[in-house]
Amino acid sequence: MTGEVDLVREAKRRGRGVVGIYCEFTPRELILAANAVPVCLCGASNRTIPPAETVLPSNLCPLIKSSFGYIVTNRCPFLMVADLVVAETTCDGKKKMYELLAEKHPLHILELTQKVEEEEAFSHWLSEVGKLRKKLETTFDRTITDDDLRKAIKDMNRERGLLRTAFELGQEDPAVVSGLELAELRYRVAGNPAHLRMLEAFIAEAKDRKKHGRFVAKKGAPRIMITGCPTAQGTTKLIEVIEECGAVVAVQETCSGMKPLDLQVAETGDPLEAIARKYFQLPCSCMTPNTGRTALIERLAKEFKANAVIDLVWQACHTYNIESYLVDRFVREKLGMPYMKVETDYSDADRERIKVRVQTLIEML
Ligand code: SF4
Ligand code: SF4
Repeated sequence: MTGEVDLVREAKRRGRGVVGIYCEFTPRELILAANAVPVCLCGASNRTIPPAETVLPSNLCPLIKSSFGYIVTNRCPFLMVADLVVAETTCDGKKKMYELLAEKHPLHILELTQKVEEEEAFSHWLSEVGKLRKKLETTFDRTITDDDLRKAIKDMNRERGLLRTAFELGQEDPAVVSGLELAELRYRVAGNPAHLRMLEAFIAEAKDRKKHGRFVAKKGAPRIMITGCPTAQGTTKLIEVIEECGAVVAVQETCSGMKPLDLQVAETGDPLEAIARKYFQLPCSCMTPNTGRTALIERLAKEFKANAVIDLVWQACHTYNIESYLVDRFVREKLGMPYMKVETDYSDADRERIKVRVQTLIEML
């Protein structure tokens, strides 16, 4: 992370704008087209939760509390240099937390319409994405042309494609990379050539491991798909526990895994509409109904040869928690696979308890 902080500060010194984001619904292409740096803001530390709880109710999800704790303690180095934060109306907790953030920092909210199957909902989302374009133009005093958008689309497609290729290494059996290694590939700053080189080097190293028979698990080791809430560096407890129990996290169907990489932005047609379409189809539990999630789980289970699905729910995340009933039923009845829900927070207090449950599941496989 230190390298990324230096990178963002250097970009700022050279006169580039910096835009903080919290969620995978934010179209990074628009920010890049404004010649600004899109950076994911901090929200993955247990240490910033107590300061957040002096303002927020304690029965909120740890992701919201941790993010807000970074804000109130001024500990997010990216937020300190951000010219603007872009956020969306996803879950209620985040939406209301953003009102408090708006008192401290310039903020733009994208109103995310949530009936994903209705064309009117898409039209509204498209107009919101258009308003973000205008907001970025005003903030950075420049016009974002369609050609700027087309270039940013190509760059982000390439970046997503490379990250996807890296995550697809999880399809190998015996495993050439661990789920934890894949989780640690995620970075904060989009549009940074150094990250593309890092991904290329990682892919080359994994191919070399395969060629020389250097595997991270035995052939036939249980293969787990994680679905549900996203993880980040610092909140990979569940992945660590699963792999300590001898299984491999072959794939994450989450915003920290394949979910945002599954679709690319079309490189033909109106670029703003193409951007809006891609993001609108993200199968997040904030959408209703969220049928795209089970369709993605089914496809990824086949592609990554998963033996079981573990659903990660951050405590008090109502959307993922309630949706887990439908996912449980789908995984057991339609896919015929074992399913387990793990509801937890950022602390280590329940690590051993989770381990016992995961161990029991793995022994059944
Ligand atoms: S799970 Fe939903 S709310 Fe969370 S980052 Fe992904 S899209 Fe955003
Ligand atoms: S984990 Fe759930 S409650 Fe927390 S920010 Fe994401 S969608 Fe909202």
